[in-house]
Amino acid sequence: MLTTKGTEILKRNGLRLTNCRSAVIDVFCAAHTAIGHAELEDELIEDEFDRVTIYRTINTFLDKGIIHKVMDGSGIGKFALCSAKCDEHQHHDDHIHFNCLACGSTTCMEELSIPKVDLPQGYEVKEANLLLKGICVKCR
Ligand SMILES: [Zn+2]
Ligand SMILES: [Zn+2]
Ligand SMILES: [Zn+2]
Repeated sequence: MLTTKGTEILKRNGLRLTNCRSAVIDVFCAAHTAIGHAELEDELIEDEFDRVTIYRTINTFLDKGIIHKVMDGSGIGKFALCSAKCDEHQHHDDHIHFNCLACGSTTCMEELSIPKVDLPQGYEVKEANLLLKGICVKCR
């Protein structure tokens, strides 16, 4: 089998290479923006993987720290590739997401961390999401 960036990621995470996993990871590697279930299924239509298999693959990738969930206010869950900092024990996707009002795409701003917030005493942050909306570089 051809060694792609995708298959490298699967191997690094100790995942057996199945056709579906390879196809799904390749879609994520090729994408520059976050992908929803429907979009993913469209990309894979030629390969005829059933929805359940795709769904399971997504969950495996989430568990392994390969992809993370992106909330962009569109109401549908989107997913994007994680950086190498994430593993099966913990995600470290503390970056800003940018949603374009023109094309609807959502981009990971890996280099921009979510600023620390001074919470009142007794509160502890376990998860943080910061979404900025505007016009992306392609739509300007
Ligand atoms: Zn992650
Ligand atoms: Zn755009
Ligand atoms: Zn992200």
